[in-house]
Amino acid sequence: MSKILIIEDETDIADLEKDYLELSDFEVVVCNTGLTGLQRAQSESFDLIVLDLMLPELDGFEVCRQIRQSQNIPIIMVSAKKDDIDKIHGLGLGADDYMTKPFSPSELVARVKAHLSRYERLVGSGVVKSENDTVEIRGLRIDKTARRVFIEGEEKIFTTKEFDLLTFLAENPNHVFTKEELFREIWDMESIGDIATVTVHIKKIREKIEKDNSKPDYIETIWGVGYRFKV
Ligand code: CA
Repeated sequence: MSKILIIEDETDIADLEKDYLELSDFEVVVCNTGLTGLQRAQSESFDLIVLDLMLPELDGFEVCRQIRQSQNIPIIMVSAKKDDIDKIHGLGLGADDYMTKPFSPSELVARVKAHLSRYERLVGSGVVKSENDTVEIRGLRIDKTARRVFIEGEEKIFTTKEFDLLTFLAENPNHVFTKEELFREIWDMESIGDIATVTVHIKKIREKIEKDNSKPDYIETIWGVGYRFKV
């Protein structure tokens, strides 16, 4: 049985989420502050975390950042403000998904299930490995546990999807992927968007890691086909 941690200070919302998840056979633990939630996440093993953003003691941003230093389990962040979603993206905290309140509990359950099965698939394929798992290629270092990227030792801030795309390419070097394949791989649970999204993300990644975009060291364009990570 999968074990879910809900970190939410509004007890009626927490209770509703808990009820729905328990009806779907999940084991659920609720913490009402950021600090107790973080302590619980660090001392017990969970399969997924539902994390509210505005929390007493320690906010959701900080809780997410600290959990990501040691764990790569799925984290779904929830917020009452749409603006916060942009902030979550911008900070590259490594949250896997975001939901804006109010949302239907059944949608939460659907997303929890989707993230758990995706994560299990990644673990099964060996893509997700142990703690402090890093990928290093020449001057590029990807710290998968903390979800941080460094070029020649200097940290570059990545959004969740940029990070996922770069990591996927770097872990499958010398393989040419079409935009369609990359879109399916990285955006597989989202219904909106198209392959142009891939082009935009590749461009943003290159701005962060390449010295010269016309002669990329890492991500090469294979004209008419797609992209390849060079080794
Ligand atoms: Ca709250």
